[in-house]
Amino acid sequence: MNRLGFDDLGLAQDEQAVVGKAVSAGSGIVLFTGPVGSGKTNTLYAALDRVGERKVQIAGTERIQDLEIPGAVFHSAPEGGREAVFQSLAKEPAGVVVIDELKDTDDVRSAVRLVGAGHLVLSVVTGEDTAGVVARLVAMVDPKTGDPIDAKALGDALLLVTSQRLFRKVCQKCGKPAQGTGEFAGGKLMRGIGCAECKGEGYRGRTPAYELLPVTPAVREAMVKRESVEEIRELAVKEGQRPLRQGAVEKVKNGETTVEQFREAGFR
Ligand SMILES: [Zn+2]
Repeated sequence: MNRLGFDDLGLAQDEQAVVGKAVSAGSGIVLFTGPVGSGKTNTLYAALDRVGERKVQIAGTERIQDLEIPGAVFHSAPEGGREAVFQSLAKEPAGVVVIDELKDTDDVRSAVRLVGAGHLVLSVVTGEDTAGVVARLVAMVDPKTGDPIDAKALGDALLLVTSQRLFRKVCQKCGKPAQGTGEFAGGKLMRGIGCAECKGEGYRGRTPAYELLPVTPAVREAMVKRESVEEIRELAVKEGQRPLRQGAVEKVKNGETTVEQFREAGFR
């Protein structure tokens, strides 16, 4: 695939600033989440544009799809042998470590340890939304010992969680104004009628909607208390989060995508 830049993502300027700040931080964990096929790896990939001149190393069981970073070294490890790789990376000079997915308590512990060693850790996590991923992480239990995750250590290390959905974009060539009803009333909705450019589909390309959860002191406290998804979600909004659904509604109202696409992504 072509190298993606930060500007190609579809992130608003203020959102770019939040993600840019997190990935240019010295050390910490940034998680790029979303359902399968939502383009979260693309976001991670583009965010790597902002990490500066730091050495990037990739660690995991599988090579992250489409992730080709010039000069990056891939350290593969079988499922059970991941910890050894993470341990050896912790001894290296502080840089950027990309982990394929935080699968279990061992992975989370390793990520926290890497942060302690000065690394910036970036990872993709499959999940519905930012609050859901945070709640799931702090609820993790070590299957061998039954010990819960160290939510305080994770909260201290975690900088930002992003979540996203990918929508098909209304074809620029054949898009015509459309009527919006209900919550879409008053919007500048568009609908592609189909042309040679979009092969009659009415859509061309894709555009993501985002939700960002910067880990503020209040969010950190909620993590330590292992609050529920609902509580974390509510807190995130109180802390200024524009929820994913709202971002998606705006994408429909400004004519980038359609109500059909909005529903297809699971929004009601
Ligand atoms: Zn068209």
